[in-house]
Amino acid sequence: MITGSNAPKVLIVGAGPTGLTLGINLLRGGVPCRVIDKLPGRLPWSRALGLHARSQEIFDAMGVLDAVRRQSLAFEAIHVYGDKGRDKGALLSLPMGELPSPFPQLLCCPQPRIEAVLEERFRSLGGELWWNTELLDVQQDGSGVRATVLQRNGEPQRSEEHSRGEERHLRTELLVGADGAHSRVREKLGLPFAGNDYQERFLLADVDWAPDLENDAFHGFLLADGNLIAIPMPGDGWRLVVTEEPGEQSEENEEGDEAEPDMALFHQRIREALGDQAPMPGEPRWLSRFTIQRRLVSHYRRNRILLAGDACHVQSPLGAQGMNTGIADAFNLAWKLVLFCRGHGGGALLDSYQRERRPVAEDMLRGVDALSRASFVRAKVLRGARDSLLRLAGNRPQLGRRLVRRASQLDVHYRHSPLVDAGPDADLGWRHQGPLPGDRVPDARLQSQRDGSPRRVQALLRQPVHHLLLQLGGEPDHRARVILHALLSRLPDEYLNELRVTVISRDGFELDRTDTGAGRAHLWRDHDGEFEQAFGPGSRLWLMRPDGHLGYRAPLTDADYLFAYLERLFHH
Ligand SMILES: Cc1cc2nc3c(=O)[nH]c(=O)nc-3n(C[C@H](O)[C@H](O)[C@H](O)COP(=O)(O)OP(=O)(O)OC[C@H]3O[C@@H](n4cnc5c(N)ncnc54)[C@H](O)[C@@H]3O)c2cc1C
Repeated sequence: MITGSNAPKVLIVGAGPTGLTLGINLLRGGVPCRVIDKLPGRLPWSRALGLHARSQEIFDAMGVLDAVRRQSLAFEAIHVYGDKGRDKGALLSLPMGELPSPFPQLLCCPQPRIEAVLEERFRSLGGELWWNTELLDVQQDGSGVRATVLQRNGEPQRSEEHSRGEERHLRTELLVGADGAHSRVREKLGLPFAGNDYQERFLLADVDWAPDLENDAFHGFLLADGNLIAIPMPGDGWRLVVTEEPGEQSEENEEGDEAEPDMALFHQRIREALGDQAPMPGEPRWLSRFTIQRRLVSHYRRNRILLAGDACHVQSPLGAQGMNTGIADAFNLAWKLVLFCRGHGGGALLDSYQRERRPVAEDMLRGVDALSRASFVRAKVLRGARDSLLRLAGNRPQLGRRLVRRASQLDVHYRHSPLVDAGPDADLGWRHQGPLPGDRVPDARLQSQRDGSPRRVQALLRQPVHHLLLQLGGEPDHRARVILHALLSRLPDEYLNELRVTVISRDGFELDRTDTGAGRAHLWRDHDGEFEQAFGPGSRLWLMRPDGHLGYRAPLTDADYLFAYLERLFHH
C-alpha cells in the first residue's frame, strides 16, 4: 500500500489527452497527482486530428500550445462537395481563421503528437506517469479512494505473460477515470452509459497521396453511394475516411470472420469524387475499421470518484469534438479539484463539474448526431434537400460562420451553473453588455501601465488562479479612485493566494500604488478600446475563473456582494 505525505492526492486513470490535460492543470495548481495507463506506451496511430480554437486557448494557458503548433497544419478552409464530386464545385466552403479568438484557426495535429507534448509538460512539472499499470478495481470510503492496479514489467502483450504482474493497492484522496470509451472506472461505479450504435461504420486509411486538392483544407465528399473525407496531415500524408454503408458490411472470410478492410472502397470513392484519372494512394500506413456510437454517462461523479472525456461521452468523429470536449472537461474539473484539495469548497464545488459539463456533452452529442445523420442520408430526395441546405449555407457567410463557431467550442457556456452569479443591477441594468456569468471570457489586447508592453486578457490564464478584473470606465475622477481603493483594501490577505487583481483603465487615467491598496493590483490600460468593445462601457468588476469562464460580474460599487461570493467559493 502506498500512503504518506508524498502520495499523490489525485490518481488519474488514463494517459490520453483528457488524463494528461487534467494532470498538468492539477500540478499547475500545486496538487500532486499520478497518471496510470494500462498500455506499455503511447499508440503510434492517430485517432483525433482536429484541434479547435477553444482547445488552443486552453493549451496556451497550459504552456503547450507553441509546441503543438510546431507540429500542426493550420487549415485555411473546410470544403464540402456534393455527389458530382469536386468538378461541380463545393456546396459549402467555410473559411477558417475568422473566429473571435487569439487562435482562430483549426489545427490539424495527430493525437499521439499532442499526447507527447502533454506528457513532456506533465513530467516537466514533476508529474509521475506509470505505463503498464492497469486499474482493476476501485473502492471508496469517506476519507479516500483505494485503487487496485496490476503493474506489469516489460511489454504486456497478448501472451500469457500479459496477465502476470504485481497487484498493488494505491490510496488517494480522489480518483478520476479518464480511461476512455470502455472505462473500467465507469463500469466499477455501475453507471449507465446510455445511447445507441449507428449502423454505418467507417474505414480509415492514413496514406501517401498526391491528389489535386488544396493541402491546407479539409475536404468532404457527400457522394451518391457514401462519403469520402480527405484530410491532409502535417508533414506529409493524408487521412482518408469512407463510410461503409450497412449493405457493404456483410462480407466474411472462409472462417466466417469479417473480412479485413482493404483499399478497394477508397479507390472507388476517389474515382467518384475526383474522376477516373485521379491518382490513387499508396499502401496505407494504417488501415482500420471502426464502428460509432452515441453515448452519455448518467453521472460524472460518485463522491470521490469522477469521470472525464470519452469515459463520459462517445460520438461519431464527424465534427472533431471528442478529444476537444475531453480537454475542456479536464480544464473545467482541474481548478475545482485544486480548490477542493486545498480545503476550499466541498461537495457543491465538485458537483458543479457535472452541472456544467454534462449539458455541454448533451448539446455536443445532439449536434454531432445531426451532422452524422445528414451525412449518412441515402434516399435521393433527402440528399437533394440536404445539399440544397448546404448550398444555401454556403451562400450565407453568416450561417457558415455560425457553424464554424459552434464547432470551435468558443460558445460553450455555463450560464445555468449554480456556481456563477451576478451582482445586483448586473442583469437588469446592462444584460446585453459584455459576457454573462458562465460565458467564456473574451480576449482583448491591452497594455501594461508601467512600461506600455502588450498584455492580453486571456494570457492571464497562464496563472492558474481566479482573476478579478476591475474596469474603470469613463473619465478619471476622485470617486472612482476612492471606490477602487476601498475595494482593494478590504480584500482579505488570504484571498491573494487564490486571486490576482488587474485594474483596467482608459488612456489618461493614471493610477498609482496608493490607488490600488499599496500595489495589490496590476495596472493595465485599454489603449485601443478593445476591452470596452468586448465588455461594454462603464466601471465594472469581472471575476474570471481559472478555466477562463466568467464566475461573477457586477458594478464596481458592489464590493459587499463580491466578497460574499468569494467567501462562498474560498470558504474552508
Ligand atoms: C477515427 C477517429 C477520429 C477522431 N478524430 C477526432 C478529432 O479530429 N478531434 C477530436 O476532438 N476527437 C476525435 N476523435 C475522438 C478522440 O480520439 C477521443 O475523443 C479522445 O481520444 C478521448 O480522449 P480520452 O483521453 O478521454 O480517452 P482515450 O484517448 O481513449 O484515453 C484513455 C486511456 O486510458 C487507458 N485505459 C483504459 N482503461 C484503463 C485501465 N483499466 N487502467 C489503466 N488505463 C486504462 C487507455 O489505454 C488510454 O490510453 C476521433 C476518434 C476516432 C476513433
